[in-house]
Order: sequence, then C-alpha cells, then structure tokens
Amino acid sequence: MTTPLAAILAARIAAAGPMTVADYMAECLLHPEHGYYAAHEPFGAAGDFITAPEISQLFGEIVGAVLINAWRQAGRPSPFLLAEAGPGRGTLVADIVRTARVDPGFSDAAQIVLIEASVRLRDVQREMLGADAHRVTWADTLDDLPALPLFLVANEFFDALPIRQFVRTGDGWRERMVGLGRDDALAFVAGATALPDGDLPQNHAATPDGSIFEIAPAREAAASVIGAHLATHGGLAVLIDYGHLRTAIGDTFQAMRGHGFTDPLAEPGLADLTSHVDFDALARAAVAEGARALPAMTQADFLLGGGIVERAGALGAGKDASAQDEIRAAVARLCGDGDGQMGALFKVLALAGKNLDGPVPPFQAG
Ligand code: SAH
Repeated sequence: MTTPLAAILAARIAAAGPMTVADYMAECLLHPEHGYYAAHEPFGAAGDFITAPEISQLFGEIVGAVLINAWRQAGRPSPFLLAEAGPGRGTLVADIVRTARVDPGFSDAAQIVLIEASVRLRDVQREMLGADAHRVTWADTLDDLPALPLFLVANEFFDALPIRQFVRTGDGWRERMVGLGRDDALAFVAGATALPDGDLPQNHAATPDGSIFEIAPAREAAASVIGAHLATHGGLAVLIDYGHLRTAIGDTFQAMRGHGFTDPLAEPGLADLTSHVDFDALARAAVAEGARALPAMTQADFLLGGGIVERAGALGAGKDASAQDEIRAAVARLCGDGDGQMGALFKVLALAGKNLDGPVPPFQAG
C-alpha cells in the first residue's frame, strides 16, 4: 500500500464495499490521524500550495475593507460576528483584524469566530493571531454560530468540502465510487446509485459514456446554513474559490502535492484533494434560505473593484525598487489571467442578509 491511510481504506472497502468519492475525500482530508489537514502543513513554499492571503497582505486588506464597508452599510450592528470558515494558517483573518483597526467601532463590536475542523491548525491560527487570539472562539461547523449579524469570509474552504461524482454509463448516470482494482489498489468503479433526476444542468450538451457530473451536498448544506443565518440575523458572506459560475458537466476532482497535480487515488492523506466549486449551486442554496446572492465575479474584478491597485501604491510608497517589484508581482499573480495566476480562475460570490440592500461594493446588485 502506498500510504498508511490507503491500507486503512482498502481494508474498509474489502469489508464493506466501495465508498463514495465524498467519503473518500472526507477521510483523506480529515482522518484524525492520517488526514491531510490533520497531519500536514499544506501551505506556503514548502507545502503543497499557496493561497491568496499567503501571496500578499493586500488580499486580506481588500477583504477586510469590503467587510467593514458592508458592516457600515448594514447600520453598524453591535455586537456582530466576524467569521472565517477554514482559516488555514490564519493569515487572512490576521490581516483582516489588522485592517479593522482603522475603524474602532467595527473592531470593538466584532466577536471573532473561526470555523476550523483541524485541531492542529487551530493552534497555528492562535499563534498567528498573537495578542488578538484571546478575542477568538473556534467552532467545529457553521451550525454552531451564535445568533448575531454575520460578516464572513471563506477562501478556499468550499473546495475542500467533499463532492459526489456520477459517471455516465450505458445504463444511465451511476455514482462513481472508490473500490479496489488490480492488486487491491484503489480504483474508480461505477456504483449502483443513480443520479437524482433533475440534478443535471438543463440544456447540457450530449454526454458520451465516461462523462462525469459532480454534486456537492456538503457545500450546498454549508451555503444553506450561511444563507439562513444571513436571512435571519443580517450580514454579508464573501465566498472565494476556484470554480465556475454556471453548473456544468466535467471532472474537476484533483490532487495536489508539492505544487503539482497527482492522481487523487495515489497517495491518500498525503495530497490535498479538492474540486472546482459550482458557484451557481451555492447561490441557489443560499437564496432558497432567504439570502440575496449578488452576481459572482472574478477575483480580479473583486480585488480591482476593491481598490487593490491604490492599496498596492500606498504599500510600496517609500520602499526600494525590489520591494515594489515584489508588490507588483503579487498583484499580477492575484489579478492576472495568465498561467499560474489567480485572477480569472478564482471567483467571488457575495451573499447578503437583511438590512443590506442594493449593491454592496464592489458587488453589484443582482
Ligand atoms: N483560507 C485559508 C486556507 C484554506 S485550506 C487560506 O486562504 O489560506 C482549507 C481550510 O479549511 C483548512 O483550514 C482546513 O482545515 C479547513 N477545513 C477543511 N474542511 C473543513 C470542514 N469540513 N470543516 C471545517 N474546516 C474545514
């Protein structure tokens, strides 16, 4: 077996039959001993990937400014929840908290809540927040949030929540499962469960056998909880991830290790597993609970509309040429649409609650 977790999963499959991609993903990411987030340091140059807040403090400053402005627009509710789902190393929330010092009214009214499943990462986040850590509480899930207006950000959180996959066979769409292939290696197999009618996007093109369609009940459940909270208590949620604006057919399940793609079944527990987020599905789930979805935009439009160029200028003022080059490179990576750049691949969806009407800059009204 390739990894300790592979042996555990193969034994389970041999005893109980193939498992869904969702169960496989959840085990690989969150297994208490061998799970990717439980056992590894995924972030940064030495890890497997670099996220936007790790590229530059400008990212958290823009997100912070957007949340502060939305809070003002909502009538400065006090107290309120300043929340991040899936904070990773805590860089983004630390940058937001620092940015928030410009408005003591916001800072003082904020109860900071971090939604984090990994005990190890909670420690990393506590350390990152330093003197502000005493103001923070941690929650296991979004269901545990106190009943207060909510101003929330989630960056690369939804992509880590499990998906289910269905594969087109001669016998219709069947759930794609992880079973055992040759030499008891993990392998994809078609299961018995059929795709619920109506889940496929309307007017989709003809799909040959082998096509894959993904649904993400765990993501939609999270968006529903956020939507219901916003509808009842007010606030704004800013959801940032790589993904597509419209529901579509295609296999986006992917594994990353050491800044490169690998086979998602090859090294369970050692590689990060994610898939592209269907923003349309998130918006539908939140709207069904009474929240308002502002039209999703690219990360480039979000950051540029939020004033990243002006902030970059202020950050670089008085610094030497190499520091300024570094800032320019960070802005290009965050906003560009070239290879390895995030501006077009990443999308940003805002969900608004009561007391927050019309456009919420940089988001247009729907
Ligand atoms: N937002 C961070 C890191 C994103 S990585 C950044 O931008 O750098 C995904 C984060 O979500 C990690 O902190 C991981 O532990 C957490 N996470 C993954 N699945 C989760 C779940 N089901 N519940 C709560 N947190 C989860």
